[in-house]
Amino acid sequence: MTRHITIFCAALLLLACQAERAALPLYEPVDHVNTLMGSLSKHSLSTGNTYPAVAMPWGMNFWTPQTGRMGDGWTYTYTADKIRGFKQTHQPSPWINDYGQFSIMPVSTPVFDEDQRASWFSHKAETATPYHYSVYLADHDTYVEMAPTERAAMFRITYPSVEESYLIIDAFDRGSYVKIYEDSKMIAGYSTRNSGGVSDDFRNWFVIVSDTPFSSAHIVSDGVMSDGDESVSEHSGAVLGFNTAGGRQVHLKVASSFISLEQAMINMNELGELTYDEVKEAGRNRWNEVLGRFEVEDNDVDDIRTFYSCLYRSLLFPRDISEIDADGKRVHYSPHTGNVHEGYLFVDTGVWDTFRCLFPLLNLAYPEVNSRIQEGYVNHFLESGFLPEWSSPGHRDCMVGNNTASVVADAYLSGVRGYDIDILWKAVTEGAHKVHPDVSSSGRIGHELYDSLGYVPYDAGINESAARTLEYAYDDWCIWKLGVALGKSETEISRYKEAALNYRNLYDEEYGLMNGRSISGEFRRPFNPLKWGGDFTEGNSLHYTWSVFHDIAGLIRLMGGKEKFAAALDRVFEMPPHFDESYYGFVIHEIREMQIMNMGNYAHGNQPIQHMLYLYDWCGQPWKTQEKVRDVMDRFYTASPDGYCGDEDNGQTSAWYVFSAMGFYPVCPGSGEYALGSPLFRKMTLTLPDGEEIVISAPDNSDKNCYVSSVSVDGRKSDRNYISMEQLRDGAHIRFEMSDRPDMSRGISDDAMPYSFSANMNL
Ligand code: CA
Repeated sequence: MTRHITIFCAALLLLACQAERAALPLYEPVDHVNTLMGSLSKHSLSTGNTYPAVAMPWGMNFWTPQTGRMGDGWTYTYTADKIRGFKQTHQPSPWINDYGQFSIMPVSTPVFDEDQRASWFSHKAETATPYHYSVYLADHDTYVEMAPTERAAMFRITYPSVEESYLIIDAFDRGSYVKIYEDSKMIAGYSTRNSGGVSDDFRNWFVIVSDTPFSSAHIVSDGVMSDGDESVSEHSGAVLGFNTAGGRQVHLKVASSFISLEQAMINMNELGELTYDEVKEAGRNRWNEVLGRFEVEDNDVDDIRTFYSCLYRSLLFPRDISEIDADGKRVHYSPHTGNVHEGYLFVDTGVWDTFRCLFPLLNLAYPEVNSRIQEGYVNHFLESGFLPEWSSPGHRDCMVGNNTASVVADAYLSGVRGYDIDILWKAVTEGAHKVHPDVSSSGRIGHELYDSLGYVPYDAGINESAARTLEYAYDDWCIWKLGVALGKSETEISRYKEAALNYRNLYDEEYGLMNGRSISGEFRRPFNPLKWGGDFTEGNSLHYTWSVFHDIAGLIRLMGGKEKFAAALDRVFEMPPHFDESYYGFVIHEIREMQIMNMGNYAHGNQPIQHMLYLYDWCGQPWKTQEKVRDVMDRFYTASPDGYCGDEDNGQTSAWYVFSAMGFYPVCPGSGEYALGSPLFRKMTLTLPDGEEIVISAPDNSDKNCYVSSVSVDGRKSDRNYISMEQLRDGAHIRFEMSDRPDMSRGISDDAMPYSFSANMNL
């Protein structure tokens, strides 16, 4: 009998092993990523305005196939027929454009001109992944593959069997340098092209080493090809030949540095003696490791692909431009001083977009990365006296608010450590009362009037004044909250606590909306709530009225109670997508993206309103949040070239999906709470860096079962419409019971409401 049991157990074990093997995923996380998501975009309509970044997560250099002309922000568009080159890029957005870019292009005839060398290609002969990109260049009968590391990349070029084939090196215009070292099969150079935000002597030094000798070599200076070996000119380049009789694969190692040519050579060590396939494999493993913090179990593969494609976009920016020098020390080029300084520096993000949920995503799932980013912010401040609201790579004049206060506060309050918070405290408190002398978006423009009147008036020569006021008030709350956590004295922080209520100063009771206000205290008349821009930023009053992230209960009181508040939310979705574009004089793409989505005046394609769907959690109608977030996830996101409903914007719009798919969203970064929505999958597991797991299960989930009928956290039922960072930090099991009908009795009490400043403080 015992023997039988043993055999039986062994058989069971075998079956279990086989079942486990069968359950091994056919696809790893990175296989679900479509890097072309959002690339079918144009000036007038954005479905993401992304390019297929081939890069390591947060890597210093990205690579992209280039279809657009040199300098065109639309660097790769899905509808294009031809590729002009393979570009090292640092571009965060077409509107901000690129810097330090240069390109490489294999060709069959020695022609440098970017139009003449361009080749037809097909998406059917293209493989686009985060760690590897390949394409067949039809006009040159040449197959190109590229695989990056953080600061270097390897190319494998398969030339046809012809006597000689060529390689173009294009260092771009506006001042560049190229030198050919024939004996060492090497090309060195620099690009100075930029869009601002760099020091005067800015250079991106690059070095390219071939494994194949050059059969011919020509230098290009401002369009003229010659036998020389060096060009310092407006537009430098090189045309190199290879003997390809019988066909040949040429391997290129490429590396660059913002510091020096010597440092570029050091950065090339990232490739070591690795083969092309080994570089590719290492990149694949790195992406799987980072993406793999999230594990999804569901039967809807389309949603899984959208999820990982969005997660990939959330892990690209801000980029780490620190480099490891000859002594093994981490150093960085400073766009502020032009010098080399120690430590990290992260660049290429506009926090007007990314404070909302991209940074909170890092704080939850990748806190060790945000610790380095915060160290980078310390360095931004030490080197420039300001925290950049838009960095690319230095201060750029773009957008409004002083939301680095949120980025700093949410990191610290979420438990991120390992950097000098005292310096960042100095940075956010000083930054609230000064403005950058050259870049008005860093610091606070209008701070004198804001500090004396409690709002930025519309008639003081400062545009988008109401948007600025609302964001400053939230930023003040962030500073106050951080000050409390740091044990700062009441005298030091009380002014921020009071200023956090400044949003009240813009509430126009006659309209029940936020409105611009003059120095003498009058609200703007005539007032058109449909008017985009003017007193608001890339949105109208209907979009900006909800920018009281930290005090939704206070806003509800202003608006006359929960019922009226909910009705005001409803109206935005139910009204037609009418708009007034007169401030711009034409229909900006963000307006068009709102108009065509069949969701009224709700504009998910731009950032100011992206938290609004979650506000029903504060007014006793959480089921409306649940159905609406699922509608947006289902309709507005797909893992396809037209996959976003507006500019993706450096991870923000993607991180919205990642959070929403988890079933919660950080409406108020800094509060330590996430408002509940409707989880997308049956099961999701987030493994935190210390190994703790956050398991989110919703076994009955389906397209129809989008409503939450009950929630339990670690086995304890919760009626609340929120979950806290504290509950999640050490791992948690959140279980959602889902239904096809709204439960109008759950989450409707005052206690169920997520955080609000004035409710919390009895103000
Ligand atoms: Ca935007």
